[in-house]
Amino acid sequence: MLTFNIEPSSKDEIKVAQGEASQAAFQSNRLREQVHKLSFVVEALWNVLKSKTGANDEELKKLFAEIKSKSSDNSEFGTTLECKNCSRPVSSKSKMCVFCGAKIENENLFR
Ligand SMILES: [Zn+2]
Repeated sequence: MLTFNIEPSSKDEIKVAQGEASQAAFQSNRLREQVHKLSFVVEALWNVLKSKTGANDEELKKLFAEIKSKSSDNSEFGTTLECKNCSRPVSSKSKMCVFCGAKIENENLFR
């Protein structure tokens, strides 16, 4: 097994990094739970709307697609593209791939 000789100062840095990592994991779990709960609320609201107004799933899907196509253009993170070099997902806002460093060719002029 590979072992490393760790200096006392870097042991502290590891502890700090581990603390930050577990905090990030905790926050991401909490966000996931909140999103999960919100999806139930949205579904309940949609069911109420459907029964009271006669709206249907097709209308919602159409509106959702419209909103999604608009909001992804304005998103802070852009849309997801595939790196032409390593095929990993990269943001259309990135100048280069975070995984392999390849230049991102973005065909859309406005992103
Ligand atoms: Zn890449």
